[in-house]
Amino acid sequence: MGHRQRGEGQMSRFEETNYYFRRAAAVMDLGERIQALLLNPYREIIVTIPLELDSGEISTFTGYRIQHNNSRGPFKGGLRYHPQVDLEESKSLASLMTWKTAVVEVPFGGAKGGITVDPARLSPRENERLTRKFIQQLHENIGPMKDIPAPDVNTNGQVMAHIMSEYSKYYGHSPGVVTGKPLALHGSEGREEATGRGVVYVTEEALRLQNKAVSDSRFVVQGFGNVGSHTCRLLHERGGRVIATSDVFGAIHNPAGLDIAALLAWVAANGTVKGFPHASAIDAGELLTLPCDVLIPAALGHVLTRDNAQDVRASMIVEAANAPITPEADEIFEKAGVIVIPDILANAGGVTVSYFEWTQNIQQFTWGVDKVNEELQRIMLRAFQTVYRVALEKKLSMRTAAFVVGIGRVGKATVLQGIS
Ligand code: NAD
Repeated sequence: MGHRQRGEGQMSRFEETNYYFRRAAAVMDLGERIQALLLNPYREIIVTIPLELDSGEISTFTGYRIQHNNSRGPFKGGLRYHPQVDLEESKSLASLMTWKTAVVEVPFGGAKGGITVDPARLSPRENERLTRKFIQQLHENIGPMKDIPAPDVNTNGQVMAHIMSEYSKYYGHSPGVVTGKPLALHGSEGREEATGRGVVYVTEEALRLQNKAVSDSRFVVQGFGNVGSHTCRLLHERGGRVIATSDVFGAIHNPAGLDIAALLAWVAANGTVKGFPHASAIDAGELLTLPCDVLIPAALGHVLTRDNAQDVRASMIVEAANAPITPEADEIFEKAGVIVIPDILANAGGVTVSYFEWTQNIQQFTWGVDKVNEELQRIMLRAFQTVYRVALEKKLSMRTAAFVVGIGRVGKATVLQGIS
């Protein structure tokens, strides 16, 4: 994971997303001009963030916000704090958000951004200052009706609280400028677990179509952060056997199934899945090729490539992470009949509950957790069924079908608004 050079097929991350787009565009007979209009980001913001470290030294960081398309509503997408954040990855992830918000029909466009930094190397106060300085440079371009960031890799409710606080200094009380906020600060019930919960809803539905159930299936989940840990917990609660999981420090395996409640307690105490009793340590790469029913990558992008795709022994892959499968690997899975539930459908639960949070902030009214989960399930299943129907009718993979659905909706909104 994580190599940045143009390895596979010499495509950049953005070109890889565009490859999926173009496959769908060909099915839809979209002309070159409309394709160009829909492919390119509306605005690319790159800022240099100077930061005074606790030691008094000055360090500089690069921050990105890519606003891809807002024809269906304000730009929307996460902020990632990671050493590998760069322009190409941010553009790719922003574009995915455009299609994702359209697939689940929430009234947003697509954006993404972040800072090239390893936040674990900064103190909490340095992290807070970094976030605030980023917003000082970004505030004119974000806002509840302009662009609404959310958590992604290495960002969480605390980071969102700092963003809300900094933005509100300029514009007055503005909870709707970010989603994924803590419950105590205008967050929504159910937001933190929403992406994992959405992953589980679509997994259940995809298994049901194969006459299987979560309770008689084995799962491997790569990544035990926000998305991965909630996915594991909810699968376990439904009787599913999560036989392996991992984080940046290591991978663990127990063919009889991991006790997820005990694992969550272990991670809370130790900060990693590594060393968890009642499981054996395995190689991080081996985790992806363990025999199981469903493989759920829930960490970073580019983990299933042409080098390891042949060795995957799952019959279904649910993309909880964004872009975990390269186009070359995707083709290998398609030929081998491995069902892939694509990111723009599978992990859309997060942005769906972000939409509920934003709505509640604007209305100054809160929903209970049952209503949040019920509406989330309704939207995820509606999106799944729409994509599945298109896949069947047009004989497409679930990924291409999801792009067809998303591009169709964004294209329609763009044309309705008029281009001149
Ligand atoms: P997170 O920072 O909470 O967790 C990331 C996890 O991945 C951590 O457990 C980390 O240790 C692990 N990880 C990092 N590098 C790894 C490696 N080399 N091998 C194995 N594990 C590794 O982030 P998150 O919010 O859970 O996001 C995970 C993925 O889900 C990302 O691709 C993100 O874009 C996507 N996603 C997140 C949301 C959301 O609501 N948070 C919504 C949609 C999609």
